Amino acid sequence: MDSERDSQFDRDRHLWFLELMHCDLPSEYQAQEINRLTLAYFVVSSFTILRALDRIDKEQVASWVLSFQARPRDDENLENGKFYGFYGSRSTQFSADNSKELLHHGGHLASTYCALAILKMIGYDLQCIERESILVSMRNLQQPDGSLMPIDTGAENDLRFVFCAGRNIRMTLTAICFMLSDWSGMDREKAKEFILNCQSYDGGFGLVPGSESHGVLSVHLCLSGTGGATYCAVAALNLMGFIEDDLLFTSASPSLMNVQLLLEWCLQRLNADGGFQGRPNKNSDTCYAFWIGGTLKILGGLDFIDKGALREFLFTCQSQYGGFSKFPRHLPDLYHSYYGFCAFSLLEEPGLNPLCVELGMADVAALGI
Ligand SMILES: [Zn+2]
Repeated sequence: MDSERDSQFDRDRHLWFLELMHCDLPSEYQAQEINRLTLAYFVVSSFTILRALDRIDKEQVASWVLSFQARPRDDENLENGKFYGFYGSRSTQFSADNSKELLHHGGHLASTYCALAILKMIGYDLQCIERESILVSMRNLQQPDGSLMPIDTGAENDLRFVFCAGRNIRMTLTAICFMLSDWSGMDREKAKEFILNCQSYDGGFGLVPGSESHGVLSVHLCLSGTGGATYCAVAALNLMGFIEDDLLFTSASPSLMNVQLLLEWCLQRLNADGGFQGRPNKNSDTCYAFWIGGTLKILGGLDFIDKGALREFLFTCQSQYGGFSKFPRHLPDLYHSYYGFCAFSLLEEPGLNPLCVELGMADVAALGI
């Protein structure tokens, strides 16, 4: 191992790794075929953060992404219970045949978030897509308690998907509405109530009311298998306009949630090796440098941590093949590579674009995209 390279952000190798993921995705990702749009989101968003978006053909990518949009038939009522968002991949685009044996698979909230985020990053005008079918049918996903389902046929209805349309469901839903600049697709008050009910006694947020606090509440849990609601809760509340930036210092009125306890919970996720864990008694993991670091950034508390120590931890996860691994000296994967890039952007690594932390992607508005 090259000790000098191990203490520098290795942009050239990261770009080589991303080119590989873009052009020749390794066979280990076969099981993620249904999440194709999410994988593409990681690649395009990584190129954006690394200021290398010129490496992709934007027109080709836009046309590929748009081909995944679910469209209602002429005679279908948008309030028929189905969700007309984006499919995750080609293999879920079944057409109903004459015998009606194959059901038309509906869109997924996470795929919809990723599709819109990719289009936004490559400069596609979101005013040009068929927005009404997304926004109207998205209301079919919100449950009476304010929670959201990612697809119209059910599945988990926890905090992840509030964000997709903001990044967990509730956060995914929030993010989608935010990107489309139209909140008619969700009931913000109900979503807020659900999120606030998820704050635990220890200050962090669980995926559902009464559950254990977690560092991340994201659509990307689909890939990582890890969970946590805290980032998604805080980011969704921020996107919906219920909390302001730098909440620790700028809030004149009593906050909706226990901010001091939340701050303590976040700071307690720091391990002795300088990295962040997602839950108590867990090892440091690259992605939590963003999930917890991003939460602290929104709260205005990122300066309370030892940024140098966090950088040192992240360098132990930087692969000699480019990209980042979950744990030190493991093989890299796309998910942890992306959140490694996000973490270095949070730490203001020279040569990287700034983040819109609450969306978890490059700040396209600041970049003039
Ligand atoms: Zn992780």
